[in-house]
Amino acid sequence: MDAYGALISRVLHPAWERARGRPTMRLLRYLEQTERRSLDELRALQLGALRRLLTHAYHHVPAHRAVMVSLGFHPNDVKSLEDLTAVPITTRAELRAQGEAHLSTAPPFPTIRKSTSGSTGEPLLIRYDRGSEDWRQATKLRGYAWAGARIGASTLHYWGVGRANPSRFARAKITLDRALKRERYVDCGRRGEADLDAVIALLRRSPPEVIVSFSQAVADLARHVVARGARDWPDIRVLCAAERLFPEDRAAIVRAFGPHVFETYGSREVMLIAAECEAHAGMHLSMENLLVEIIVRGEPSGDRPARPGETGDVIVTDLHNYGMPFIRYATGDMATLGEDTRCACGRTLPRIASVDGRSTETFRDARGGRVNGLLMSSLVLALGDRVRAFQLVQHRDAAITIRLVMPSLPPNDEALLVRDVRRYVGELPIRVECVAEIPLSPSGKRPLVVIER
Ligand SMILES: [Zn+2]
Repeated sequence: MDAYGALISRVLHPAWERARGRPTMRLLRYLEQTERRSLDELRALQLGALRRLLTHAYHHVPAHRAVMVSLGFHPNDVKSLEDLTAVPITTRAELRAQGEAHLSTAPPFPTIRKSTSGSTGEPLLIRYDRGSEDWRQATKLRGYAWAGARIGASTLHYWGVGRANPSRFARAKITLDRALKRERYVDCGRRGEADLDAVIALLRRSPPEVIVSFSQAVADLARHVVARGARDWPDIRVLCAAERLFPEDRAAIVRAFGPHVFETYGSREVMLIAAECEAHAGMHLSMENLLVEIIVRGEPSGDRPARPGETGDVIVTDLHNYGMPFIRYATGDMATLGEDTRCACGRTLPRIASVDGRSTETFRDARGGRVNGLLMSSLVLALGDRVRAFQLVQHRDAAITIRLVMPSLPPNDEALLVRDVRRYVGELPIRVECVAEIPLSPSGKRPLVVIER
């Protein structure tokens, strides 16, 4: 055994094992150490986790077993991370079609459920186990802390409230929890002048240390702050999530809140995939929790890993979700691989330079105010995976049509959906249509949100 092997087997691997399945804070402390290990050590840790995941999937997850058996592939044959490329990439459509066959038939079972719409408006019910949740939370805490969004920092979440309608007891518990953590929540869905002015008033009364927000929401807020000349607060750190952050958005946010602007990239399927550090030179990948491949596809010689500076499909393997293993899952996003040099912050985790996609168009409410498209589209997720695909359209006369690919929608569900949408857009005509399919746009895409002009 070479020196690395010894280090891994005697020191790193036991530490990794101890960390597995433990509460979030212990995992967080672990991740704060691993982020500065050498890349070889990190890759060795990934390889160990990958082999355990593949072994579990081979024995206990019917869909993965079927694929591996048909390929003559056995987890014991995996000697390097590159060997994983023998396993084909899985799409959302395949996951939808195979459903239960992707769930583990042995512990740990997938006890947590969540719906996602991805970027194509095709809802998918995903699941994961408790241990994966611990990893997700710890990974998120670490990435957010790079932006200064630590537990205990006074934080304004300018975020989508969506459809959450918990019981009174649950609401009281959430309120208490947020007060203890010094967190405030403001719904970013509606962004008319009066809405933005109200947020500005709140910021002036008690400026937070950190704003965590949908990227487009805080960019709109920032432009409003600049237009009003309203800034009277010291620098506020801004963590942008859920949507793409364009350079002009970042520039506006810097003017309104100061230079500490951080982009993050995640998905509902696997949570935080990458986050920006204080060096502001791309986003570090969450490589202890996820094996992320950026793959250039469609070339005559076949798929290949992107080189630094190249753009490719984001393919993730969720190393700690045994309940519903995501192995080489195509997120539907494209990302550009960062430079192959060490970041000025000293962390070794590789970086992506940018993520494409993740942008939805913005609606107008009855009074002409801006309404977040991503948040509006997320309201449809409350219907679950009965909906095969969906799209929201705002016509030239501002009326809204919600297209759902499903045989029919019970009147009660339709009334709830319309009520939720109306909360954001006000008194505009809203129509729900059940259709057989949603046609592709002239560019060959099927966007979540279409604004007719
Ligand atoms: Zn860095």
